[in-house]
Amino acid sequence: MYSEQDVFDFIEEEDVRFIRLSYFDVFGHQKNVSIQPSVMERAFKEGILIDGSAIAGFEPIEKSDLFLRPDPNTLAILPWRSFDGSVIRLYCDIYDADGNLYQNNTRYLLKQVIDEARHLQVPIQIRSEFEFYLFQLDENGEPTKKPLDHAGYMDIAPEDMGEDIRRQICGYLSEMGVEPMASHHEEGPGQNEIDFQFNEPLASADSCATFRWVVKATAQSMGLYADFSPKPIPDAPGSGTHIHIQVDPLEPFLAGILDHIRELTLFLNPTAASYDRLGEHKAPKYVTWDYANRSQLVRIPAGSRQIELRSPDGYANSYLAYTLLIYAGLDGVRRGLELMPNCDENLCGRLMTCEELPASFKAAKEIAAKSEWIRHYVPAGILEAYLER
Ligand code: GLU
Ligand code: MG
Ligand code: MG
Repeated sequence: MYSEQDVFDFIEEEDVRFIRLSYFDVFGHQKNVSIQPSVMERAFKEGILIDGSAIAGFEPIEKSDLFLRPDPNTLAILPWRSFDGSVIRLYCDIYDADGNLYQNNTRYLLKQVIDEARHLQVPIQIRSEFEFYLFQLDENGEPTKKPLDHAGYMDIAPEDMGEDIRRQICGYLSEMGVEPMASHHEEGPGQNEIDFQFNEPLASADSCATFRWVVKATAQSMGLYADFSPKPIPDAPGSGTHIHIQVDPLEPFLAGILDHIRELTLFLNPTAASYDRLGEHKAPKYVTWDYANRSQLVRIPAGSRQIELRSPDGYANSYLAYTLLIYAGLDGVRRGLELMPNCDENLCGRLMTCEELPASFKAAKEIAAKSEWIRHYVPAGILEAYLER
Protein backbone atom coordinates (compact mmCIF):
# COMPACT_ATOMS: atom_id res chain seq x y z
CA MET A 1 0.00 0.00 0.00
CA TYR A 2 1.32 3.45 -0.93
CA SER A 3 0.27 6.68 0.80
CA GLU A 4 0.14 10.19 -0.66
CA GLN A 5 3.43 10.89 1.15
CA ASP A 6 5.01 7.86 -0.58
CA VAL A 7 4.03 9.38 -3.92
CA PHE A 8 5.66 12.74 -3.02
CA ASP A 9 8.80 10.93 -1.82
CA PHE A 10 8.93 8.91 -5.04
CA ILE A 11 8.58 12.06 -7.14
CA GLU A 12 11.54 13.56 -5.27
CA GLU A 13 13.79 10.49 -5.24
CA GLU A 14 13.18 9.32 -8.80
CA ASP A 15 13.28 12.77 -10.40
CA VAL A 16 9.72 12.44 -11.72
CA ARG A 17 8.96 14.95 -14.50
CA PHE A 18 5.47 13.91 -15.58
CA ILE A 19 2.55 12.27 -13.76
CA ARG A 20 -0.07 10.54 -15.88
CA LEU A 21 -3.50 10.64 -14.25
CA SER A 22 -5.36 7.74 -15.84
CA TYR A 23 -8.99 6.69 -15.91
CA PHE A 24 -11.38 4.77 -18.19
CA ASP A 25 -14.40 5.41 -20.36
CA VAL A 26 -17.31 2.97 -20.00
CA PHE A 27 -15.82 0.63 -22.62
CA GLY A 28 -12.57 0.37 -20.65
CA HIS A 29 -10.50 2.55 -22.99
CA GLN A 30 -7.77 4.18 -20.98
CA LYS A 31 -7.58 7.99 -20.95
CA ASN A 32 -5.03 10.19 -19.24
CA VAL A 33 -3.95 13.73 -18.54
CA SER A 34 -0.33 14.49 -17.77
CA ILE A 35 0.39 16.84 -14.87
CA GLN A 36 3.57 18.38 -13.46
CA PRO A 37 4.84 17.47 -9.97
CA SER A 38 3.97 20.98 -8.74
CA VAL A 39 0.26 20.21 -9.35
CA MET A 40 0.28 16.89 -7.46
CA GLU A 41 -0.85 18.32 -4.12
CA ARG A 42 -3.88 19.96 -5.73
CA ALA A 43 -4.68 16.69 -7.56
CA PHE A 44 -4.92 14.83 -4.24
CA LYS A 45 -6.79 17.61 -2.41
CA GLU A 46 -9.20 19.06 -4.98
CA GLY A 47 -8.89 16.86 -8.04
CA ILE A 48 -8.06 17.74 -11.63
CA LEU A 49 -10.92 18.94 -13.82
CA ILE A 50 -11.90 16.99 -16.95
CA ASP A 51 -14.67 17.38 -19.52
CA GLY A 52 -16.99 14.40 -19.00
CA SER A 53 -18.94 15.19 -22.16
CA ALA A 54 -15.91 14.15 -24.23
CA ILE A 55 -15.77 10.65 -22.69
CA ALA A 56 -17.86 7.74 -24.04
CA GLY A 57 -20.82 7.02 -21.75
CA PHE A 58 -20.10 9.89 -19.32
CA GLU A 59 -22.11 13.09 -18.82
CA PRO A 60 -24.01 15.41 -21.19
CA ILE A 61 -22.48 18.81 -21.85
CA GLU A 62 -24.74 20.62 -19.31
CA LYS A 63 -23.10 18.84 -16.39
CA SER A 64 -19.80 17.80 -17.83
CA ASP A 65 -17.38 18.87 -15.04
CA LEU A 66 -15.75 15.87 -13.40
CA PHE A 67 -12.69 15.67 -11.15
CA LEU A 68 -9.86 13.14 -11.14
CA ARG A 69 -8.43 12.26 -7.73
CA PRO A 70 -5.42 9.90 -7.97
CA ASP A 71 -5.35 6.66 -5.97
CA PRO A 72 -1.82 6.67 -4.42
CA ASN A 73 -1.85 2.90 -4.18
CA THR A 74 -1.65 2.59 -7.98
CA LEU A 75 1.71 4.35 -8.25
CA ALA A 76 3.86 2.81 -11.00
CA ILE A 77 6.67 4.00 -13.22
CA LEU A 78 6.23 4.04 -17.02
CA PRO A 79 9.60 2.44 -17.88
CA TRP A 80 9.43 3.12 -21.63
CA ARG A 81 8.83 6.86 -21.01
CA SER A 82 11.41 7.23 -18.24
CA PHE A 83 14.44 8.87 -19.81
CA ASP A 84 15.76 12.30 -18.69
CA GLY A 85 13.83 11.83 -15.46
CA SER A 86 10.92 9.51 -14.68
CA VAL A 87 7.31 9.33 -15.73
CA ILE A 88 4.75 7.73 -13.43
CA ARG A 89 1.10 6.86 -13.67
CA LEU A 90 -1.69 6.80 -11.10
CA TYR A 91 -5.21 5.47 -11.63
CA CYS A 92 -7.88 7.86 -10.42
CA ASP A 93 -11.20 8.00 -8.63
CA ILE A 94 -13.66 10.33 -10.35
CA TYR A 95 -15.89 12.84 -8.53
CA ASP A 96 -18.78 14.92 -9.83
CA ALA A 97 -19.15 18.67 -9.22
CA ASP A 98 -21.07 17.99 -5.96
CA GLY A 99 -18.17 15.98 -4.58
CA ASN A 100 -19.83 12.57 -4.97
CA LEU A 101 -18.04 9.55 -6.41
CA TYR A 102 -19.02 9.30 -10.06
CA GLN A 103 -21.24 6.28 -10.85
CA ASN A 104 -20.37 5.73 -14.52
CA ASN A 105 -16.76 5.09 -13.57
CA THR A 106 -16.53 1.30 -13.93
CA ARG A 107 -13.49 1.19 -11.65
CA TYR A 108 -15.74 2.57 -8.91
CA LEU A 109 -18.41 -0.04 -9.67
CA LEU A 110 -15.79 -2.73 -9.13
CA LYS A 111 -14.84 -1.20 -5.77
CA GLN A 112 -18.48 -1.40 -4.71
CA VAL A 113 -18.90 -5.10 -5.50
CA ILE A 114 -15.58 -5.84 -3.77
CA ASP A 115 -17.05 -4.26 -0.61
CA GLU A 116 -20.09 -6.48 -0.98
CA ALA A 117 -17.98 -9.63 -1.37
CA ARG A 118 -15.99 -8.63 1.71
CA HIS A 119 -19.21 -8.09 3.62
CA LEU A 120 -20.43 -11.56 2.60
CA GLN A 121 -16.99 -12.99 3.50
CA VAL A 122 -16.40 -14.42 0.05
CA PRO A 123 -12.65 -14.17 -0.71
CA ILE A 124 -11.93 -13.65 -4.43
CA GLN A 125 -8.71 -13.64 -6.43
CA ILE A 126 -8.73 -13.05 -10.17
CA ARG A 127 -6.42 -13.04 -13.16
CA SER A 128 -6.99 -12.51 -16.89
CA GLU A 129 -5.09 -14.30 -19.66
CA PHE A 130 -4.77 -12.09 -22.73
CA GLU A 131 -4.15 -13.45 -26.21
CA PHE A 132 -3.15 -10.94 -28.89
CA TYR A 133 -1.78 -10.84 -32.42
CA LEU A 134 1.35 -8.99 -33.52
CA PHE A 135 0.97 -7.49 -36.98
CA GLN A 136 3.47 -5.72 -39.22
CA LEU A 137 3.10 -2.04 -40.11
CA ASP A 138 2.94 -0.79 -43.69
CA GLU A 139 5.20 1.93 -45.13
CA ASN A 140 2.90 4.62 -43.64
CA GLY A 141 3.14 3.10 -40.17
CA GLU A 142 -0.45 1.77 -40.34
CA PRO A 143 -1.19 -1.75 -39.06
CA THR A 144 -1.60 -4.48 -41.68
CA LYS A 145 -3.06 -7.97 -41.28
CA LYS A 146 0.39 -9.45 -42.01
CA PRO A 147 1.38 -11.38 -38.88
CA LEU A 148 4.87 -11.04 -37.41
CA ASP A 149 5.56 -14.76 -37.99
CA HIS A 150 3.96 -18.06 -38.98
CA ALA A 151 4.75 -20.01 -35.84
CA GLY A 152 2.18 -22.09 -33.95
CA TYR A 153 1.46 -23.19 -30.38
CA MET A 154 4.53 -22.87 -28.12
CA ASP A 155 6.92 -22.94 -31.09
CA ILE A 156 10.45 -21.66 -30.58
CA ALA A 157 12.76 -19.42 -32.62
CA PRO A 158 13.44 -19.03 -35.48
CA GLU A 159 9.76 -19.79 -36.32
CA ASP A 160 8.66 -17.83 -33.25
CA MET A 161 9.72 -14.24 -33.82
CA GLY A 162 8.00 -12.89 -30.70
CA GLU A 163 10.51 -13.92 -28.04
CA ASP A 164 12.29 -10.56 -27.80
CA ILE A 165 9.11 -8.56 -27.55
CA ARG A 166 7.57 -10.93 -24.97
CA ARG A 167 10.75 -10.63 -22.92
CA GLN A 168 10.66 -6.83 -23.10
CA ILE A 169 6.97 -6.81 -22.11
CA CYS A 170 7.64 -9.10 -19.11
CA GLY A 171 10.49 -6.83 -18.02
CA TYR A 172 8.33 -3.69 -18.16
CA LEU A 173 5.47 -5.44 -16.36
CA SER A 174 7.73 -6.45 -13.46
CA GLU A 175 9.04 -2.90 -13.20
CA MET A 176 5.42 -1.74 -12.94
CA GLY A 177 4.52 -4.21 -10.21
CA VAL A 178 2.59 -6.66 -12.42
CA GLU A 179 4.25 -10.05 -11.92
CA PRO A 180 4.34 -12.01 -15.19
CA MET A 181 3.97 -15.77 -14.79
CA ALA A 182 4.32 -17.40 -18.23
CA SER A 183 4.40 -16.39 -21.87
CA HIS A 184 4.22 -18.33 -25.12
CA HIS A 185 3.48 -18.24 -28.81
CA GLU A 186 -0.18 -19.13 -29.30
CA GLU A 187 -1.79 -21.21 -32.05
CA GLY A 188 -2.38 -18.45 -34.61
CA PRO A 189 0.36 -16.89 -36.80
CA GLY A 190 1.83 -13.96 -34.84
CA GLN A 191 -0.47 -14.77 -31.90
CA ASN A 192 0.96 -14.54 -28.38
CA GLU A 193 -0.13 -14.94 -24.80
CA ILE A 194 1.38 -13.58 -21.59
CA ASP A 195 -0.13 -14.51 -18.23
CA PHE A 196 0.32 -12.73 -14.93
CA GLN A 197 -0.38 -13.65 -11.30
CA PHE A 198 -3.65 -13.83 -9.37
CA ASN A 199 -4.50 -10.72 -7.39
CA GLU A 200 -7.31 -8.95 -5.55
CA PRO A 201 -9.99 -7.99 -8.12
CA LEU A 202 -9.19 -4.24 -8.19
CA ALA A 203 -5.43 -4.75 -8.51
CA SER A 204 -6.07 -7.43 -11.13
CA ALA A 205 -8.27 -5.14 -13.25
CA ASP A 206 -5.65 -2.37 -12.93
CA SER A 207 -3.07 -4.92 -14.10
CA CYS A 208 -5.19 -5.68 -17.17
CA ALA A 209 -5.13 -1.99 -18.12
CA THR A 210 -1.41 -1.78 -17.45
CA PHE A 211 -0.89 -4.93 -19.51
CA ARG A 212 -2.63 -3.62 -22.62
CA TRP A 213 -0.73 -0.35 -22.33
CA VAL A 214 2.65 -2.08 -22.01
CA VAL A 215 1.94 -4.51 -24.87
CA LYS A 216 0.72 -1.79 -27.24
CA ALA A 217 3.57 0.60 -26.40
CA THR A 218 6.25 -2.09 -26.64
CA ALA A 219 4.91 -3.35 -29.98
CA GLN A 220 4.87 0.18 -31.33
CA SER A 221 8.45 0.80 -30.22
CA MET A 222 9.48 -2.33 -32.14
CA GLY A 223 7.66 -1.30 -35.32
CA LEU A 224 4.69 -3.65 -34.77
CA TYR A 225 1.00 -3.42 -33.95
CA ALA A 226 -0.50 -5.36 -31.03
CA ASP A 227 -4.08 -6.36 -31.84
CA PHE A 228 -6.45 -7.40 -29.03
CA SER A 229 -9.50 -7.71 -31.27
CA PRO A 230 -11.47 -10.98 -30.94
CA LYS A 231 -11.14 -12.25 -34.50
CA PRO A 232 -8.55 -10.39 -36.57
CA ILE A 233 -8.01 -13.16 -39.17
CA PRO A 234 -11.21 -14.93 -40.32
CA ASP A 235 -9.92 -18.52 -40.54
CA ALA A 236 -7.34 -18.41 -37.75
CA PRO A 237 -7.92 -18.78 -33.99
CA GLY A 238 -9.49 -15.78 -32.31
CA SER A 239 -8.00 -14.03 -29.29
CA GLY A 240 -9.70 -14.70 -26.00
CA THR A 241 -9.24 -13.16 -22.58
CA HIS A 242 -9.90 -16.07 -20.26
CA ILE A 243 -10.78 -14.97 -16.74
CA HIS A 244 -9.62 -17.19 -13.86
CA ILE A 245 -11.35 -16.86 -10.51
CA GLN A 246 -10.27 -18.43 -7.22
CA VAL A 247 -13.18 -18.24 -4.84
CA ASP A 248 -14.67 -19.95 -1.84
CA PRO A 249 -17.30 -21.43 -2.07
CA LEU A 250 -16.62 -22.30 -5.71
CA GLU A 251 -19.71 -24.33 -6.75
CA PRO A 252 -22.54 -21.88 -5.96
CA PHE A 253 -20.40 -18.98 -7.20
CA LEU A 254 -19.91 -20.73 -10.55
CA ALA A 255 -23.61 -21.68 -10.63
CA GLY A 256 -24.42 -17.95 -10.25
CA ILE A 257 -22.14 -17.04 -13.15
CA LEU A 258 -23.71 -19.72 -15.37
CA ASP A 259 -27.17 -18.52 -14.34
CA HIS A 260 -26.45 -14.92 -15.43
CA ILE A 261 -23.97 -15.51 -18.26
CA ARG A 262 -26.38 -14.84 -21.11
CA GLU A 263 -27.42 -11.46 -19.66
CA LEU A 264 -23.86 -10.33 -19.08
CA THR A 265 -22.34 -11.59 -22.36
CA LEU A 266 -22.84 -8.12 -23.88
CA PHE A 267 -20.21 -6.86 -21.42
CA LEU A 268 -17.79 -9.78 -21.92
CA ASN A 269 -18.11 -9.73 -25.73
CA PRO A 270 -18.92 -6.10 -26.47
CA THR A 271 -18.50 -5.79 -30.26
CA ALA A 272 -20.02 -7.39 -33.37
CA ALA A 273 -16.65 -9.06 -34.11
CA SER A 274 -16.77 -10.77 -30.70
CA TYR A 275 -19.41 -13.15 -32.09
CA ASP A 276 -17.21 -14.19 -35.05
CA ARG A 277 -14.86 -15.74 -32.49
CA LEU A 278 -17.34 -17.73 -30.39
CA GLY A 279 -18.06 -21.34 -31.35
CA GLU A 280 -14.79 -22.20 -33.10
CA HIS A 281 -11.07 -22.63 -32.39
CA LYS A 282 -11.58 -23.41 -28.67
CA ALA A 283 -13.85 -20.43 -28.04
CA PRO A 284 -17.13 -21.50 -26.39
CA LYS A 285 -20.70 -21.39 -27.65
CA TYR A 286 -22.72 -23.32 -25.07
CA VAL A 287 -23.45 -22.67 -21.41
CA THR A 288 -21.60 -25.71 -20.04
CA TRP A 289 -18.64 -26.52 -17.81
CA ASP A 290 -16.12 -29.36 -17.38
CA TYR A 291 -12.66 -30.15 -15.99
CA ALA A 292 -9.89 -30.56 -18.58
CA ASN A 293 -12.13 -29.75 -21.53
CA ARG A 294 -11.20 -26.64 -23.55
CA SER A 295 -14.34 -26.70 -25.68
CA GLN A 296 -16.53 -25.57 -22.77
CA LEU A 297 -17.55 -22.16 -21.47
CA VAL A 298 -15.99 -22.91 -18.08
CA ARG A 299 -13.12 -25.17 -17.29
CA ILE A 300 -11.89 -26.13 -13.83
CA PRO A 301 -8.25 -26.81 -14.75
CA ALA A 302 -6.75 -30.14 -13.66
CA GLY A 303 -5.91 -30.26 -9.96
CA SER A 304 -7.11 -26.71 -9.24
CA ARG A 305 -9.91 -25.01 -7.34
CA GLN A 306 -10.46 -22.22 -9.81
CA ILE A 307 -12.89 -21.26 -12.52
CA GLU A 308 -11.56 -20.55 -16.02
CA LEU A 309 -14.22 -18.60 -17.90
CA ARG A 310 -13.36 -18.84 -21.60
CA SER A 311 -15.85 -16.59 -23.37
CA PRO A 312 -14.56 -13.04 -22.66
CA ASP A 313 -12.41 -11.27 -25.24
CA GLY A 314 -9.87 -8.46 -25.25
CA TYR A 315 -12.46 -5.77 -26.01
CA ALA A 316 -14.25 -6.29 -22.68
CA ASN A 317 -13.80 -3.61 -20.03
CA SER A 318 -12.07 -5.62 -17.28
CA TYR A 319 -13.56 -3.43 -14.51
CA LEU A 320 -17.11 -3.95 -15.69
CA ALA A 321 -16.58 -7.62 -16.58
CA TYR A 322 -15.18 -8.37 -13.10
CA THR A 323 -17.97 -6.34 -11.45
CA LEU A 324 -20.74 -8.27 -13.15
CA LEU A 325 -19.09 -11.67 -12.79
CA ILE A 326 -18.69 -11.08 -9.05
CA TYR A 327 -22.29 -9.90 -8.63
CA ALA A 328 -23.41 -13.02 -10.55
CA GLY A 329 -21.24 -15.28 -8.41
CA LEU A 330 -22.38 -13.66 -5.15
CA ASP A 331 -25.99 -14.09 -6.28
CA GLY A 332 -25.30 -17.83 -6.66
CA VAL A 333 -23.78 -17.96 -3.17
CA ARG A 334 -26.66 -16.00 -1.63
CA ARG A 335 -29.29 -18.21 -3.28
CA GLY A 336 -27.30 -21.39 -2.58
CA LEU A 337 -27.55 -22.34 -6.27
CA GLU A 338 -26.67 -25.86 -7.25
CA LEU A 339 -24.13 -26.37 -10.01
CA MET A 340 -25.45 -28.09 -13.15
CA PRO A 341 -23.76 -31.41 -14.05
CA ASN A 342 -20.54 -31.14 -16.04
CA CYS A 343 -20.48 -31.91 -19.78
CA ASP A 344 -17.50 -34.07 -20.75
CA GLU A 345 -17.87 -33.97 -24.52
CA ASN A 346 -15.91 -32.17 -27.18
CA LEU A 347 -18.37 -29.46 -28.14
CA CYS A 348 -16.24 -27.81 -30.80
CA GLY A 349 -18.27 -27.38 -33.95
CA ARG A 350 -21.12 -29.57 -32.65
CA LEU A 351 -24.81 -28.91 -32.49
CA MET A 352 -26.08 -29.41 -28.97
CA THR A 353 -29.37 -29.09 -27.25
CA CYS A 354 -27.94 -27.26 -24.21
CA GLU A 355 -28.35 -23.54 -23.67
CA GLU A 356 -26.32 -21.28 -25.95
CA LEU A 357 -24.52 -18.00 -25.42
CA PRO A 358 -26.12 -15.17 -27.45
CA ALA A 359 -25.23 -15.91 -31.08
CA SER A 360 -24.79 -12.31 -32.22
CA PHE A 361 -24.11 -8.82 -30.92
CA LYS A 362 -27.76 -8.00 -31.59
CA ALA A 363 -28.96 -10.98 -29.56
CA ALA A 364 -26.60 -10.10 -26.68
CA LYS A 365 -27.98 -6.54 -26.63
CA GLU A 366 -31.59 -7.75 -26.62
CA ILE A 367 -30.97 -10.10 -23.70
CA ALA A 368 -29.12 -7.45 -21.67
CA ALA A 369 -31.73 -4.77 -22.44
CA LYS A 370 -34.53 -7.03 -21.15
CA SER A 371 -32.71 -8.04 -17.95
CA GLU A 372 -33.87 -6.51 -14.67
CA TRP A 373 -30.73 -7.90 -13.09
CA ILE A 374 -28.48 -5.98 -15.52
CA ARG A 375 -30.51 -2.78 -15.03
CA HIS A 376 -30.02 -3.12 -11.30
CA TYR A 377 -26.22 -3.34 -11.48
CA VAL A 378 -25.30 -1.36 -14.62
CA PRO A 379 -25.98 2.41 -14.42
CA ALA A 380 -28.42 3.56 -17.13
CA GLY A 381 -25.84 5.72 -18.95
CA ILE A 382 -23.44 2.79 -19.26
CA LEU A 383 -26.09 0.35 -20.47
CA GLU A 384 -27.30 2.88 -23.03
CA ALA A 385 -23.74 3.37 -24.36
CA TYR A 386 -23.39 -0.39 -24.87
CA LEU A 387 -26.80 -0.76 -26.48
CA GLU A 388 -26.09 2.09 -28.89
CA ARG A 389 -22.72 0.79 -29.91
N1 GLU B 1 -7.66 -18.73 -28.73
C1 GLU B 1 -8.71 -19.44 -28.02
C2 GLU B 1 -9.87 -18.46 -27.73
O1 GLU B 1 -10.23 -17.73 -28.57
C3 GLU B 1 -8.22 -20.06 -26.75
C4 GLU B 1 -7.03 -20.99 -26.86
C5 GLU B 1 -6.54 -21.46 -25.49
O2 GLU B 1 -7.16 -22.35 -24.89
O3 GLU B 1 -5.57 -20.89 -24.97
O4 GLU B 1 -10.43 -18.43 -26.67
MG1 MG C 1 -4.36 -19.34 -24.79
MG1 MG D 1 -6.59 -20.22 -20.79
